Amino acid sequence: MTVNILWRPIGQVAREDVRWQERTRRSRTTAMPDIAPDDLHAFVRDTCASLGSSEVEQGLVADQLVGANLAGHDSHGVGMMPAYVAGAVAGDLRVNEHPEIVQDSGALVVLDGRQGFGQVTGYEAMNLAIDRAREGGAVIVGLRKSFHIGRIGHWGEQCAAAGMASLLFVNVMGHSPIVAPYGGRQAKFVTNPVCIAIPGSLDANGDRPLAMLDMATSTIAAGKARVAFEEGREIPDNAMIDSAGRVTRDPSGLFDRPRSSALLAMGDHKGSGLAIMAELVGAALIGGPTMQPGHDRSPTLVINNMLSIVIDPSATGAADSFLDEATAYLDYVRDADLRDGFDEILMPGDPEKRSREKRAAGIPVDDNTLDLLRTCAATAGLDDAESRLR
Ligand code: NAD
Repeated sequence: MTVNILWRPIGQVAREDVRWQERTRRSRTTAMPDIAPDDLHAFVRDTCASLGSSEVEQGLVADQLVGANLAGHDSHGVGMMPAYVAGAVAGDLRVNEHPEIVQDSGALVVLDGRQGFGQVTGYEAMNLAIDRAREGGAVIVGLRKSFHIGRIGHWGEQCAAAGMASLLFVNVMGHSPIVAPYGGRQAKFVTNPVCIAIPGSLDANGDRPLAMLDMATSTIAAGKARVAFEEGREIPDNAMIDSAGRVTRDPSGLFDRPRSSALLAMGDHKGSGLAIMAELVGAALIGGPTMQPGHDRSPTLVINNMLSIVIDPSATGAADSFLDEATAYLDYVRDADLRDGFDEILMPGDPEKRSREKRAAGIPVDDNTLDLLRTCAATAGLDDAESRLR
């Protein structure tokens, strides 16, 4: 297989020769087709199969990526496939790999993800955490050196579906940094996400979380800048700075080589501090690599390390009151008087629930992303890649 980098992985590539303004004009005249979730799922499965993934791996990758699109997070949806193919072709992502336990003291387990598909390492790490939390009331599981584990809310949802609460701290490393620390005009870390999920039921009956905060610690996730770049759109204000430290709404500098722009951390010093602490507890504390330059970097490498704290609410002595108390609290907050310009108050996780309802019949995918998906599938070896998703 020849290395043919097709996507603009965050760490890597290039503004191409298509100028930002031309992209903007083109995408404004191109309607986004809606694609049935099942068709996207099959496409991802078949692309993974062409890379050599087992059937289970194909399904886990497709479930998470299409699930992210359904939840409204295209940044972590099927548009990640080109990065995965590029990673697999370069040998940075290892197909059919499983996490290995490297430390186990019962309440604290550390796994090495061995650069396997994060959809597999994350799933297996969470299954282990859920089993241990059911036995002991709570557990801490560290997952080091996994390839990209995608939308972190997927793991919060897996815990919630088993009746467990979870707090997840993640760092990102491998490619070049993209987020500037508060006060800096040079990127030093990535978008280090944090997720906190509360279950909607204490039984293991597959319920969605009652509430789930799942966020990048940058003002916008890097993938959202990629989606805006692919669609020829501007990004929100105060999310990115250029090399002189001036705020810009043009995402293309993030894809220059070398990068000429950096994302801003959310909430000034607080988001910057949270990102730094997520790196320290999500990676350094569990033996995972941080962004400091002593570690190898590669444009096709996207490593996530994750510290998960999983708690069984039925072991806290609040099993009888927890859900009623949590629901009463959320209702009380929703009921706040509104500021001008707002017509409701949403709880964390509400936008994703709404998106799932809206997108169940079809997911909008822009033409640039469709082209990249077909090209990456062809690189993976999928025979009919060109005729798919039309
Ligand atoms: P976001 O800003 O869209 O949402 C962040 C959180 O805010 C969500 O919990 C959402 O429910 C809530 N929210 C959104 N709008 C709201 C509103 N109007 N009122 C109340 N709550 C609201 O998400 P993001 O920060 O762009 O992150 C997107 C995804 O990227 C996440 O799923 C995250 O896990 C993922 N991510 C992954 C990595 C990785 O390396 N694997 C890195 C960064 C981000």
